[in-house]
Amino acid sequence: MTRHDPHDRIERIGVEEAFQCSHCGHRWYYTRSYCPNCRGETFETDALGVGTVVAVTTVEVTPPDVRSPNWLALARFDDVRVLAQLEAPASKGDRVRFSGEYRLRSGDEHRGPRLTVVTEEE
Ligand SMILES: [Zn+2]
Repeated sequence: MTRHDPHDRIERIGVEEAFQCSHCGHRWYYTRSYCPNCRGETFETDALGVGTVVAVTTVEVTPPDVRSPNWLALARFDDVRVLAQLEAPASKGDRVRFSGEYRLRSGDEHRGPRLTVVTEEE
């Protein structure tokens, strides 16, 4: 785990990390500078690791700068749920982890990982 305080630049925290409040222990995903449960401003982050796909959808009609089709998954990493782009189509129950570096929207300077299916050998 990495400990953070309100002065850290939270935009540098990777999308493959979950947040945990140092005050109340609540865990969440999606970058925000305070705990959604108690508004505490100190938190730790840790890598999500391997999760399980809960649901998948394919978006065929996407904004001009987003790939089409755009495969998305809702995945569960213990008590944290994440909605993210899939590297390739997947199914409910598949085990996934974040990997790679992709331009998630064209024209976007930032590159990020997509959910990738984990094979049994990993
Ligand atoms: Zn809290």
